[in-house]
Amino acid sequence: MRIGFGYDVHRLVEGRRCVLCGVEIASDFGPDGHSDADVPVHALMDALLGALALGDIGKHFPDIDNKWKNADSIELLKSVYALVSGKGYTLGNADITVVLESPRLSPHIERMRYMLADALGADISAISVKATTEERLGFTGDGSGIAAYAIVLLQEQTV
Ligand code: MG
Repeated sequence: MRIGFGYDVHRLVEGRRCVLCGVEIASDFGPDGHSDADVPVHALMDALLGALALGDIGKHFPDIDNKWKNADSIELLKSVYALVSGKGYTLGNADITVVLESPRLSPHIERMRYMLADALGADISAISVKATTEERLGFTGDGSGIAAYAIVLLQEQTV
């Protein structure tokens, strides 16, 4: 078994779409970035890559490459998971925490889990998505940013 951890932060700006775990959420503010800036998916990809010491998403999908401009992070996640599968590993489970002050994510959590499970070909019971605030402290608390943490367990496929 291999374990991986990922972390990502994006600035929140007015007028950007807010897409988290592939789910578009109604909000006046959204994460800024080169791709669709789906923060929890970026953290999850880094966790998957980290578990196999394959570098990070900056290495695989460079910001300077226009190919990834406004990229759908769910599609990037599928290609990262194809890499993981190609190395002979399969997802055991993933646990993600999204940190933001607003909007409340609770109405969207099940859909977010479903989107990730679908992208990874995993059972939904293997995918946990949680949301928390930081009690109005720091950059997530004042609404200037959003953060996400992800941890994954990979299992070597037995033939
Ligand atoms: Mg990112």
